[in-house]
Amino acid sequence: MSDNDGDVIIVGAGMVGASLALLLGEAGWSVELLDAGEPVADIDTLGEGAPSLRVSALTAASRRLLGSLGVWPSLESRRVSPYQGMAVWDAEGSGEIRFDAGTVGESALGHIVENELLQAALTRRLEALPNVRLRHGVRLVGYRREAGEAVVGLDNATERRPETIRAPLIVGADGGRSPLRSLAGIPVCETQTGQAAMVTSVRTEHGHGGIARQVFLATGPLAFLPLMIDGRDDHCSIVWSTTPEAASRMTSLAGDEAGRADLGHMLTRAIGERLGRVDVIDAAPHFPIAQRHAGRYVDDGLALVGDAAHSLHPLAGQGVNLGLMDAAVLAEEWIRAKQRGAEPGDPRIMARYERRRRSENAAMLAAMQGFQRLFGSRQPALRLARNWGLAGLDRLSPVKRLLIRQALGEYGDLPARCRA
Ligand SMILES: Cc1cc2nc3c(=O)[nH]c(=O)nc-3n(C[C@H](O)[C@H](O)[C@H](O)COP(=O)(O)OP(=O)(O)OC[C@H]3O[C@@H](n4cnc5c(N)ncnc54)[C@H](O)[C@@H]3O)c2cc1C
Repeated sequence: MSDNDGDVIIVGAGMVGASLALLLGEAGWSVELLDAGEPVADIDTLGEGAPSLRVSALTAASRRLLGSLGVWPSLESRRVSPYQGMAVWDAEGSGEIRFDAGTVGESALGHIVENELLQAALTRRLEALPNVRLRHGVRLVGYRREAGEAVVGLDNATERRPETIRAPLIVGADGGRSPLRSLAGIPVCETQTGQAAMVTSVRTEHGHGGIARQVFLATGPLAFLPLMIDGRDDHCSIVWSTTPEAASRMTSLAGDEAGRADLGHMLTRAIGERLGRVDVIDAAPHFPIAQRHAGRYVDDGLALVGDAAHSLHPLAGQGVNLGLMDAAVLAEEWIRAKQRGAEPGDPRIMARYERRRRSENAAMLAAMQGFQRLFGSRQPALRLARNWGLAGLDRLSPVKRLLIRQALGEYGDLPARCRA
């Protein structure tokens, strides 16, 4: 074995890969965590001033996981935005459903967290673990299995040299286009949604009151995610899923002051003026939206987690949450196996991980496809059905309680660290 070896190589130090590295590192595993991108900013420079553009709505289950890893307190002491309610409605009808955390005796349905802050908090914890080696600017370019080990070819941008490392286990946490998944020959089922998501930050005339709002427009859903900035509730993070042409137009509009004013008017109208006047305060980049599901999550000594295993429409705000649950379940299975003296890479243990995660992720992917079809349709019968559906659901308290439990991430076969 060479100097670089460890128990496991994790490719991708995004929110999911970094969380998995922390889970395994805290259990004493020797972890090699690699990322092709730049290192994240130091946490002490974040969490003040204007909000950053990319945020995630984290469920209660994800918060518990991050709490158990000692990450949540450093986020909470800087900036997280709890939301107590959710309102979802159809722009072309009268149906509306509202959720309230109080219905199930909770103080919040979830928290909006800036992605870079979460990354920085994870990095700070990882740096305290001598058995985890985190390296940026290192790209996976080759992969093969040899004598029971993963042999990984790397391109090291800093040192400008190729490098080979090996370990018995390898994890692909390398995002929706996962190079490791391709190199391992794992097939993927990809569905183009025909939509792109524009994100930006806004200031609103009226306070959001801790309510996350989502309106279904003919071209796609528009979400106003409530942010608390310096104790004020007049900022929101926007995710507007629409046609790629419209998204690209909005990105250009945000390039100058006059355009931002136009974009603000569009947002004010699109949300039915519920928050009064909306002012755009940042750029408005857009991202293509594809749904993907890997044909299998495991292979010989290899596991996929997060977007590498499944990417879904941002309308549910579930991508990171599902990825964190993958990481927690995989770590739970591997750590338990090692404690029992079994091989973590044993196909039966790998299969248990896949079994515990696949059905839940598949159900969420299917639900997102169904939502998109139902709300994307202009057929009068479907429009009537969705209005009745939303209004009816709003009156059905047992079903509503179930949906709230889902929003809290409290369903299915949860890993022990994430249970209430
Ligand atoms: C507009 C938008 C809004 C969203 N909102 C939410 C939300 O509210 N809540 C939620 O839960 N989810 C949300 N999501 C989804 C969420 O952002 C993703 O599910 C999440 O970022 C996936 O994390 P990951 O760590 O699996 O992958 P990624 O964040 O994609 O990280 C992959 C990492 O792998 C690295 N990498 C790639 N290739 C290589 C290579 N060859 N070698 C080494 N490293 C490599 C990359 O540099 C990267 O750091 C949203 C998504 C979008 C587009």
